[in-house]
Formats: sequence, C-alpha cells, structure tokens
Amino acid sequence: MTSNKISTKEEKSQPRKIASLTRDDSRMDKIISLCKRRGFVFPSSEIYGGFAAVYDYGSYGVELVNNIKAAWWKAMVQENENIVGLDSSIFMHPKVWQASGHVSGFSDPLIECKKCHARLRVDHVLEEIGVFADEKMSEEEINKLLKENKDKIECAKCKSKNFTEAKKFNLLVQSNLGNFTGDWTKEPTYLRGETCQGIYVNFKNVLDSSRVKVPFGIAQIGKAFRNEITARQFIFRKREFEQMEMQMFVRPEEGMEVYEDWRKRRWQYYLDLGISEKNLKWHQHENLVFYAKAAWDIEYNFPFGFKELEGIHARGDYDLTQHSKFSGQKLEYQDSKTNEKYVPHIVETSVGADRTFLAVLTESYTEEKLEDGSERVVLKFPKKLAPIKAAIFPLLKNKPELVQKAREVYDVLKGEFMCEFDDNGNIGKRYRRQDEIGTPYCITIDFDSLENADVTVRDRDTMKQERIKIAELKDYLKEKLS
Ligand code: ATP
Repeated sequence: MTSNKISTKEEKSQPRKIASLTRDDSRMDKIISLCKRRGFVFPSSEIYGGFAAVYDYGSYGVELVNNIKAAWWKAMVQENENIVGLDSSIFMHPKVWQASGHVSGFSDPLIECKKCHARLRVDHVLEEIGVFADEKMSEEEINKLLKENKDKIECAKCKSKNFTEAKKFNLLVQSNLGNFTGDWTKEPTYLRGETCQGIYVNFKNVLDSSRVKVPFGIAQIGKAFRNEITARQFIFRKREFEQMEMQMFVRPEEGMEVYEDWRKRRWQYYLDLGISEKNLKWHQHENLVFYAKAAWDIEYNFPFGFKELEGIHARGDYDLTQHSKFSGQKLEYQDSKTNEKYVPHIVETSVGADRTFLAVLTESYTEEKLEDGSERVVLKFPKKLAPIKAAIFPLLKNKPELVQKAREVYDVLKGEFMCEFDDNGNIGKRYRRQDEIGTPYCITIDFDSLENADVTVRDRDTMKQERIKIAELKDYLKEKLS
C-alpha cells in the first residue's frame, strides 16, 4: 500500500531528531504559555483581567477535552455491560446537600498571613511539614495542631510566621435560583459541588427503568463548582471544573472485592491512555471519614510534583442511607432470585476531566533538539486524544492546481477525522505549528501529486515521510489512528 519515496526538496530537508531535551523547572510555565498561544486554554474573561481559578478551553482545548471525555465514557460505559450513563442537572433540591453532609462539613480550614495577607489552606501547610490534619477535625482541634507546629510553619510568599487563627470556609457555591423573596440564606440553592449526588438521587429511577442488576454502575460526566480558596496550579484546581464519576452499587459483602478490582482497572486505564507508569503513584488515605471502608488516590507527576488525579473510594452504604433518611424514600435493592432486600454499598471512581487534560499535556510536552541545531516543541499526544488528526497542506499557496487538489483531499478526509487545512508560510513552519498542537499526520500535496495521485504523509513523532496514494489515504489513516 505504501512506498517510501520522498518527494519534495523541502520535505527532504526536514532535520532529524538527535536528542530529547530534559524536563526543567519552567515546564509548567512553558505548558501554560503554549496553551494560550495555541488555543488550548485561556484565562476566563481575560479582557477584564481574568477571573481567578476559572478557565476557558480554546479551539484545540475543546477537542482535547472532548476526546478525553469520550475515552473515559468508552472505557466505563461502552465497554461495561453493567454500567449505564446519566446526565443529571447542576441544580438540585437544597436538601441533597444537607443529606450529603456538604452544607455542614464541606469546608477547608484557612489561615491568613498577618504580614502579606496570603490565604493558605491549613491541610496544605501542614502537609508540607509532614503533619496530616483529619478532615473531621473541629476548628479548635486544628488551631491546637497549628499552635504545636507554629515554629515550623511559614508563609510561602513572605516567609513570615505570623498567622491568624484557622477558620473553616464552606466550598459550596450558592445561587438565587427559584428564590423570589430575596432571602436565600435560609435554604439556598447550590451549584453542585460534585456530580455523584445526582447519581445517588437517581438510583431508584435507573433501577426501575433499566435492566440493571447488582452489581451495576452509573456513570456521569458533568460540571461541578467549588469555592476553592487557593487559585493556583493552572487548571489543576478550578472553581468550575468537570468531573467524570462512576458509582458502582454492590452487595455489601462483595464491596471490597469489587473495590480492589476497580483499583486495578483504573490504574490500567491510565496506562492505556498513554500515561507512563513511572509518572503514576498510589496514595492511601490514612484518616478516613467515618463511613468509608477504603480510599486510595491515583496521583500523577504534574510539573509541581505528585498530586491527586483520581480518587477511588469504598463508601459503604452511607450515601443511599443518608438520602433515604432525608427524602423519606426507601433506597433499597431487592434480589430478584432470593427476594432479599438490602441497601447496596458503593464503590466510586472519580476523576476530573481538567486534571486529566493537564496530566496528558504534561506527559505529551516534549522539547527536541534536531540535527541541524534547531529545536522543536511537540505534543506527543496518544493519537486517539490528538485534537487534530491530520493537517493537509498544498506545497505552495500561489499554485491554484495544488490548492485545489489539497482541498479535494481535505474534503475526502474531513468527514472521517478532525482535519485542518493550512497553506500559510513554508512547509517547515506548518510542521512546527502542527507539532505544537500534537497533530499525528501532516499531508502535503505537491506537483508529483498532480501526476501520480499520491501525497507525502509525515509522521509527527518520527518525522519520517511516506508516499501514499490518495485513494488509499483514508484507510491508511484509519489504520494508523486506530
Ligand atoms: P483535592 O484534595 O485536590 O482538593 P478532592 O479530594 O477534594 O481534591 P474529590 O472531591 O475527591 O477531590 O474530587 C474527585 C476528583 O475531581 C479529583 O480527584 C480531581 O480530579 C477532581 N477535582 C476536584 N476538585 C477539583 C478542582 N477544584 N479543579 C479541578 N478538578 C478537581
């Protein structure tokens, strides 16, 4: 199907890679700058000076995040007969958040530096000196812990050791939806703080309307909102973000077995997504909330170190029991064979689409030195995640016959793959641009193409070029991209 003939002078002169440049401290800055420059991520409302911890996805960013969500959906819903999807609303009855414990307990204790007024999360400050605060601790207990360690804690910004007392701060974001009296302080409507509550409250609906039997799962992708205190680390911690969560409903005695199975499967999922194992790590939660049976995080080696990417939790029967209590509805399962009734236990897998985005970007960002002394930045995305699969170039912009042929090729491919037509600048520049957005294949139409009905296909990673017949191009790319 293919021949290795190299066609044009410009293509021949493409320099070969001789070395990968090493990671450096400014990696995060480089990734942020590339995201802005190439249209992956923009700060929200930038013309007004931005809006802390809120970001927008640009034209390539939205493709990447959509591909990430599609890969998760395929791995969780499409490939598992016993998992079904759901799309619940962002707004929910205010009682949901009382039942879940978020109204009373969803808070991060904060301290403020008296000198520079920086606000710091106590759990982060303590973690840095090797002390771990329990989520259940009261303000009093936290302040006692801070007092005991006060000599070791200093402000990351100004190095002062003088702080205010810790105060708990609720992370739920309030709205005035449906409130026409103006007094929404009594029972405010919240924007959901996590997507899984929508799954718990639909447990009975799904059970009654589909043919699922325990053990079964409900999966959902959707926005969540948190009044995060520390706005840093780019899209790692956003105030509006997207979660991909799956809740598995299981027999109580089988809970831990199912849990261990999902731990293995979620680890493998990241390897299949192209993340290297050396950049992944398990972190076990030591201080579990009272109802939890087990909690482990999968951490990724972000440019600022290993941090939580996904949480995998065995939650016991807490969620269904709480919603049963607050709603007055029975949330049980009846075994159709034995007629036995019970409240299923829940195994949860929960990951942010935005954190996956940052992990994939970090993993893919590569700087290479080429044999002619030049350098290139290339995003080596796994092909299934690449925003643009193929870019189509006429060799010269001012030759109508080349442009027309290139347009024909583009029209053939665009129905099948996300493609881009580019006739700007010389071929070398176009390659650099596509490398920076991670396009796996660049296709050049030259004068030989007009005679032989073939094109040059250049591979992003190897930079090798092959001559492929136009008639075979679609199948060739399908095979390469699968
Ligand atoms: P962290 O300790 O980093 O605040 P968390 O333990 O509160 O995270 P969970 O409530 O378990 O996070 O949420 C599940 C997943 O949702 C996280 O593993 C993460 O991928 C994602 N996530 C949580 N908060 C944010 C956020 N503010 N911005 C982006 N993604 C988030």
